[in-house]
Amino acid sequence: MRTIEATTELKRVMGAYFQGIKKPVAWCTSVGPAELLRAFGFEVYFPENHGALLGATRTAGDYIPAAVKEGYSGDICSYLTSDIGAHLSGETPLKKHYGLKEVPRPDLIVYNTNQCREVQDWFSFFAKEYDVPVFGITPPRHVDEVTPAHVADVVAQFKELVPVCEKISGTRFDIDRFRETLRLSREATDLWKEALATAINSPAPMLFFDATIHMGPIVVLRGTQEAKDYYALLLKEPEGMVAKGEGAIPREACRIYWDGMPIWGKLRSLSDLFAKNQAAVVASTYCNSWVFDAFDERDPFASSALAYTEIFINRSEKAKTAILGRMVKDYKIDGVIFHDAKTCHNNSNARFGMPQRLKKEAGVETLILEGDLCDLRFYSEGQSHTKIEAFIEQLT
Ligand code: SF4
Repeated sequence: MRTIEATTELKRVMGAYFQGIKKPVAWCTSVGPAELLRAFGFEVYFPENHGALLGATRTAGDYIPAAVKEGYSGDICSYLTSDIGAHLSGETPLKKHYGLKEVPRPDLIVYNTNQCREVQDWFSFFAKEYDVPVFGITPPRHVDEVTPAHVADVVAQFKELVPVCEKISGTRFDIDRFRETLRLSREATDLWKEALATAINSPAPMLFFDATIHMGPIVVLRGTQEAKDYYALLLKEPEGMVAKGEGAIPREACRIYWDGMPIWGKLRSLSDLFAKNQAAVVASTYCNSWVFDAFDERDPFASSALAYTEIFINRSEKAKTAILGRMVKDYKIDGVIFHDAKTCHNNSNARFGMPQRLKKEAGVETLILEGDLCDLRFYSEGQSHTKIEAFIEQLT
């Protein structure tokens, strides 16, 4: 896997984030209202990021059995089972990688079911474990288009969270602080979007596998100056490569879109496989999930409610097909790989006829790849490599 020069700074930024987490701490889902929480001075910690770390370090499989023993099925979200299992085992990769003694203890836990209902059980488990309040935002789900009524519903829920945050943080709500946090978040997400969009060029300078590594700050630090500065730095690299006509893969035999979750424990071997076959995975649903076009500090409640409700995972099949069709066109995609993650039906889009619809509507070839985000028992490397190579051959 190619190393982007900004990786050194990425490691510093992520290290400083984890080592700098101090009270009060709010846990939040990855597409939850992090900006609102930061506006009260909370440090925000994201259990899904911890799940991804357990997957990427291939330690998830060591801990999932502990959660299964506690009654959580091995077929549900392997972020949830590995994270709960790691907690029950008293382990975390944050010890080895960032020198932490344990995951940051929460003062408040906030989830948003805009992505799935699994987070409700997951976060409620930890609220009990740590004996802290849990606040759930439950927006309308699987929407075609987000309407003003949907936004009003979510705004009302965000506003209910305000007195809870005031009480726990001991800080009065300040709309200007919220506006400022949202402005920083908007600026970081715009830079992230620009970095991803450099892959519209052929050859693409930055690929899906690079993006899964460099998305860390947009997940855990959005709403901060650090995230904005990091993406300003990162963007220079792919932009410079585009100006020189350089790509991550010098000659692209085909261009691929990755739909669904990454297979965290297999990023390197998959990246090498695609590179060996001169196939560029240029865009993905996953990495684009942290692009929030709607953020507008002039109307922070409504615009963040809209941004967090219109995310891809929360849309109808019809809306998702249209979004994927646009990506296929914009990124000149030859083939779409649908990762059918065994333990995340919420972010696996091949189960209701999407590949067939997309082929018909966007004229693109598709492949369904069985696997999982963290639980590698559901992934067969040999079979998957054979399928991918056959698919690339079909496209070229
Ligand atoms: S969207 Fe999928 S991977 Fe993410 S928390 Fe929900 S079930 Fe887990």
